[in-house]
Amino acid sequence: MKPHILILGAGFAGHTAALHLSYLVRNKADVTVVAPNNRFTWFPSLVWVGTGTMREKETVFALKPVYDKIGIAYVDARAKIINVGTQTVTVEDAAGTPSDIHYDYLVNATGPYLNFEGTPGLGPAAGNTTSICTVEHAVQTRERYLEVVRAAQAGRRGRIVVGVGHPAATCEGAAFEFLMNVHADLKRRRVRDLIDLTWLTNEPEFGDFGVDGVEALRGGVLVRGASLVRMLLDESNVQAIAGAGVTRVEPGRVHYERVGDEPGSVEFDLAMLLPQFRGIPMRYIDAAGTDVTDAMTLPSGFMRVDANYEPKAYEAYRADDWPALYRSPSYDNVYAVGIAFAPPHPISKGKKTGSGLAVVATPPRTGMASGIMGRTVAENIAMQVDGKTPSHHARMSEMPAACIASMGKSLWSGSAATIIMTPVVRDFERYPKYGRDVSLCDLDVGLNGAWTKRLLHSAFLWKLQAKPGWQLVPE
Ligand SMILES: Cc1cc2nc3c(=O)[nH]c(=O)nc-3n(C[C@H](O)[C@H](O)[C@H](O)COP(=O)(O)OP(=O)(O)OC[C@H]3O[C@@H](n4cnc5c(N)ncnc54)[C@H](O)[C@@H]3O)c2cc1C
Repeated sequence: MKPHILILGAGFAGHTAALHLSYLVRNKADVTVVAPNNRFTWFPSLVWVGTGTMREKETVFALKPVYDKIGIAYVDARAKIINVGTQTVTVEDAAGTPSDIHYDYLVNATGPYLNFEGTPGLGPAAGNTTSICTVEHAVQTRERYLEVVRAAQAGRRGRIVVGVGHPAATCEGAAFEFLMNVHADLKRRRVRDLIDLTWLTNEPEFGDFGVDGVEALRGGVLVRGASLVRMLLDESNVQAIAGAGVTRVEPGRVHYERVGDEPGSVEFDLAMLLPQFRGIPMRYIDAAGTDVTDAMTLPSGFMRVDANYEPKAYEAYRADDWPALYRSPSYDNVYAVGIAFAPPHPISKGKKTGSGLAVVATPPRTGMASGIMGRTVAENIAMQVDGKTPSHHARMSEMPAACIASMGKSLWSGSAATIIMTPVVRDFERYPKYGRDVSLCDLDVGLNGAWTKRLLHSAFLWKLQAKPGWQLVPE
């Protein structure tokens, strides 16, 4: 009987792993993907859905036809229990009907649990703030945003707050991109002067983005991301608050504690604040039925992999603390990739407020990094299927990352900040001065970025739907 590879989650990491496995193990193994809602979401374009400049249907596609085409089984369900002893996952479909699926190799790529409850009053359920973390959230943000716009068009002043809604949130880059798109869109609609725009972030410094910032050599001159972001905030007339850990939200007002400052609050008509990310709640049990969730995951709910989780001071962090294989230290047939794996420590330096609240921008695992991890794990599982020892590595302290933050979608008057860093996690042993190869880092702002961002949207949606030649588009 052929070995069975089971992938939980069909986002950037899981879906990329599935695409690669479809040809890497063709005829040698069966592959099944379990994910709810039969839908892939291209998250980077939700910043445009939230401002009403892209229709939501342009950011999603149905998974099943893609899997049918590449010979992969698809189960529309959610994983609930992973039995690492019997190698079985209990899944539940939309009606709540459970069933068990056996695996020989397992990839946990279930992405983030959006922990709105981690901040009292935050999120769509509480009704005070919005998010752009799902298509539905982005649509709700658009509706609320357009109400503020309509009020401004009728002459009424408005207040919009954008940022992160938890002291240990991540994904500041996506929130910043939304902020810049709101600014550009308000200008386009000729109401920018009637709206007070605030940027509220847990980053210790503007432009940190949870990766300890970025610097690049341009024409022999060192350029810092912090200066670039400050310039963009100043040019856009945004009130900006860094080092802020949001503690609670009430109707029309968000409260925060701030590193090196008094606690404060900001009033809003619309607040788009991203929540903290945690691991998707799943129970892990062994063959005897004993709950081993605490051994398999960190308290954050993310799965332990081959990283060094020993607690240490920020200055003692090492590049090789970061995982290479994304494989469970206890089970060599179980992997976790993308947001589902537990990072060993923050990349950005966290700080405490006067009351002792830790404010830290936690590590982002962006689409590109998640895709690279998905492909790497696919390659390693294919090696295991062939009886070989996995040898493909994808440490975040070795891999580059490119991020294009749009600042207006128009291909004629839009703009985007292009940020490239190599590697994502600083490695001071290899690059003693900056921890990165600054000649391979880049920071740029311009119309060319707007074209690149639009091109990426089309190229990646082509690839992810496994259309002809998809292998030519890299992660
Ligand atoms: C608004 C926004 C904008 C962004 N912009 C960018 C950008 O410009 N560039 C960039 O590189 N990154 C960007 N990101 C980050 C990027 O989206 C993430 O890095 C990426 O989605 C992580 O991939 P993942 O596969 O780990 O998780 P996801 O893509 O979230 O996929 C998780 C999958 O698991 C499924 N799932 C959940 N629970 C279960 C369960 N119990 N059982 C089975 N399946 C389950 C989900 O349905 C989904 O299919 C953005 C994120 C957001 C929110």
